[in-house]
Amino acid sequence: MFFNALSAAAPDPIMALSSLCQQDARPSKLDLGIGVYRNEAGNTPIFEAVKMAEQTLLHQQDSKAYVGMQGNLRFNQAMTTLILGDQQPYDRVRTLQTPGASGALRLLADLIARTQPHATVWLSDPSYTNHEPIFRAAGLKVRHYPYFDLATKQINHHAMMSQFAQLDTSDVVLLHGCCHNPTGADLTFTQWQQVTELALHRGFLPFIDMAYQGFGQSLVQDAKGVRYLTEHVPSYLLASSCSKNFGLYRERVGVAMVAGETETVSDHMLSQLICLARNSYTMSPDHGAAVVAHILNDIALKDNWQNELYTLNQRIRHTRSALRQALETRFDKDFRFIEQHQGMFTMMGLSADSIKRLRTEKAIYLLDNGRLNIAGLTSSQVDHFAESLRSVTEE
Ligand code: PLP
Repeated sequence: MFFNALSAAAPDPIMALSSLCQQDARPSKLDLGIGVYRNEAGNTPIFEAVKMAEQTLLHQQDSKAYVGMQGNLRFNQAMTTLILGDQQPYDRVRTLQTPGASGALRLLADLIARTQPHATVWLSDPSYTNHEPIFRAAGLKVRHYPYFDLATKQINHHAMMSQFAQLDTSDVVLLHGCCHNPTGADLTFTQWQQVTELALHRGFLPFIDMAYQGFGQSLVQDAKGVRYLTEHVPSYLLASSCSKNFGLYRERVGVAMVAGETETVSDHMLSQLICLARNSYTMSPDHGAAVVAHILNDIALKDNWQNELYTLNQRIRHTRSALRQALETRFDKDFRFIEQHQGMFTMMGLSADSIKRLRTEKAIYLLDNGRLNIAGLTSSQVDHFAESLRSVTEE
């Protein structure tokens, strides 16, 4: 029969780990694998501004007719300003609403494949677990550039730049805009400037994935490197998400942004993206983008959202400090890197055995690569986590 030759697809490692944790009956279990923010009560709350925007939309919306191929234009405009700021001209920038950053990544990967099927996409080593499958699914070649030094828990800047210096116009370099997933180690502004220089000199195409704006230093500070790069290079691709900074994970909302050398090229790029979307899902779901557009175009709601985002950010920072302290009282080691890393994640550099023992003996779930979601820990769980780590690494 038609489908009998199919074997089962491998499950997504992050989702599989999360469902393993859900099935674990031990009350002290901790899901520190999946990249979802949790508050001090262990919940992933809906932003107050989102709730208020939803109430308004419920009363105001008078049609469910198609929005349009590019999505919600007010949303696209507001997201473009949020990411790129209001200092640079947008004449060459085109923005398309997408189903999350995942949708943007796939559309942009398909765009690369359509124009340069033999291009190589360079990902950081390591990178977000779904990057490689997305680019491979689009038929593209994927390679990794040196990024994180597990020994120092810092970026291996020299090795990364040496790799970039060998690239050319057939290469695409994926850069995390901020809050690098999974390491938490971000480029400094000077390093962004140096990468920009090399992109100009070597001609490779920068592709930015910006999934956590506002989770590092601030909305503006987190975008500083991206703004510099996008102002200076002739062409780039950018995927962004509202899953984390608006807490709209399940609404599937994000943008794909493109810039070509001329306005005409940019128009062609956008029209191809629209065509690619039409060939699969036609257009993005409306709700999340309508909510974000409403918030970003209303001074009071925007203020409310920014304040709440700041409290999330501060909770992560406090948890980072508390964890550093809790670990330094138990181990004779320097854990400063936990405070230095940005966003939700940190790479602890644990052995495969420690990660396994944390799971089986302590019901603590970290990704196999040792990524720890700091935003999954509440203050009352920090000591328990540190103590568990001590017991699985020392016994
Ligand atoms: N890019 C990175 C770096 C991510 O960490 C994630 C989600 O975890 C995504 C993209 C996908 O985000 P979305 O939920 O918007 O599809």
